Amino acid sequence: MLELKDLHVYYGGIHALKGIDIKVNEGEIVTLVGANGSGKTTTLRTISGLETLKSGNILFKGKDLKKVTASEIVKMGISHVPEGRRVFADMSVYENLEIGAFTRKDKSEIEKDIQNIYSLFPILYERKNQSASTLSGGEQQMLAIGRALLSRPELLLLDEPSMGLAPLIVKDIFDIIVDINKKGTTILLVEQNANMALQCANRAYIIKNGKIELEGKASELLNHDEVKNAYLGG
Ligand code: ATP
Repeated sequence: MLELKDLHVYYGGIHALKGIDIKVNEGEIVTLVGANGSGKTTTLRTISGLETLKSGNILFKGKDLKKVTASEIVKMGISHVPEGRRVFADMSVYENLEIGAFTRKDKSEIEKDIQNIYSLFPILYERKNQSASTLSGGEQQMLAIGRALLSRPELLLLDEPSMGLAPLIVKDIFDIIVDINKKGTTILLVEQNANMALQCANRAYIIKNGKIELEGKASELLNHDEVKNAYLGG
């Protein structure tokens, strides 16, 4: 479904991605695990058309995304839940969800999808008229995921959904990610929480200093000595 080939991205003189190759097949959860500053966020932002490629290719369902704008990429079926959630704090939960459907015009279907999001996240239904700023961190993460689903993505990009959340809430969020995947959405998940990410993913890539260091089945990487020492606390 998605293929990244030899991606190079720079921020001025900083060579942030140094030849990234990643494949995501339809139906999979693939995780990209790495430390702070290794290039995870840059990889997702480049797929979404928010950073510019110096060289390399991004193919989505066989089409090259190089000259495609960020909003067209959403229309093609890729949706991005950014790091730090970034919900619109002054807007209500309902309005935040509505914004997720900005590429669509099918009003009654959008309304149905919002109801589906409420059944996936009942707490959002309870708080639908509240300002998003009043939500807890976990609820804001749910809202950010719900908002991204409103564009009916085939591929969902998740940037550190566990960041800053209590362990019990992290477990809830990962259960929801698996549930969304089972309902048919392919997922590329970026995480520093290697343990949780490797437990829910099918395959994984380990990124270090802008390069892929290791790749394989998530279950195998969970037992890999180097991964255990560097990312799973020994
Ligand atoms: P984190 O978990 O901290 O978000 P990350 O793995 O997502 O880390 P990136 O944010 O992709 O890493 O950063 C990769 C490299 O690019 C780092 O060296 C970072 O300092 C640099 N970088 C990221 N964004 C910018 C920017 N807007 N301007 C300049 N350098 C940047």
